[in-house]
Amino acid sequence: MILLAAKPVVEKRRAELQSKTAELRNALGRPPHLSVILIGEDPASQVYVGRKSSAAIRAGFTSETIGFPKNVSPETVHQKVRELNADPRVDGVLIQRPLPPQMKEKDVALWVDPSKDVDCLHPENIGLLVTGNPRFIPCTPGGIILLLDHYGIPIEGKTVCVIGRSAIVGKPLASMLLSRNASLIQVHRRTPDPAALCRLGDLVFVAAGARGLLKREWLKPGSVVVDVGIHRGMDGRISGDVDTESIAGVPRALTPVPGGVGPMTIQVLLENTFAAASRRS
Ligand code: NAD
Repeated sequence: MILLAAKPVVEKRRAELQSKTAELRNALGRPPHLSVILIGEDPASQVYVGRKSSAAIRAGFTSETIGFPKNVSPETVHQKVRELNADPRVDGVLIQRPLPPQMKEKDVALWVDPSKDVDCLHPENIGLLVTGNPRFIPCTPGGIILLLDHYGIPIEGKTVCVIGRSAIVGKPLASMLLSRNASLIQVHRRTPDPAALCRLGDLVFVAAGARGLLKREWLKPGSVVVDVGIHRGMDGRISGDVDTESIAGVPRALTPVPGGVGPMTIQVLLENTFAAASRRS
């Protein structure tokens, strides 16, 4: 089984980005800048935000994290986002998910100016993506497609199964796979027999947020499996939505967790921030 590790892809793309950033700094008169908003003290979110900021700095950007307590009022955060939208030194604005219960996704998705929406969650950017004229690439789905392309795994003409339909992964991933001429099956919590549908997939993408959900009986032999899930065990070990022991010997390729989709997601975030800064220069 081939392990579709992100490392070689990220190393290559990071080096390219660093040299393009050096040029852009001269044109802009400053480095690209990413502002990240973190609400609450969820340890996983703190880790992800830390990784995003340090990757941004490694790429030659500047980055700041703006923290709010978990009970912050939506209006306080919205006001901060307005300031970042209006600030000409800020290229990208990201609000780390999950949001606290008082903040509704459908409202928050409208806050970040579409030209700075490097997470690609604003309805305008989703609309541009779905109609085939993307301004930004959704970070996790975009990273997955780059990974498959790097390893020469064809998408066109394949039957693909996406498990999950979230706004951040499942839905934009389905759209991007359709644009690459795959035939799509999408399953979710209300699908009566997801395993039966999933077994039709040449490529299977699991973004359910359910540890070890994907077992042997969900897979056709020789398929390619992309594991988006991230779960931290009591012992600190990270695992995904795939039950790796159960599926051993069934797929021909699998993305590792950690070291697969996660680093690709960060890479696309940086490339989106670079694109936003280039458009401003
Ligand atoms: P979510 O909870 O918003 O959505 C989960 C989706 O999976 C839902 O549509 C639900 O219907 C479906 N689902 C849940 N259980 C199912 C089941 N038993 N059978 C079929 N469908 C089922 O989650 P999300 O934000 O899309 O994240 C999913 C996972 O991916 C999480 O573990 C998250 O931590 C991880 N994630 C990783 C990255 C990364 O960079 N690697 C990025 C985003 C999310």
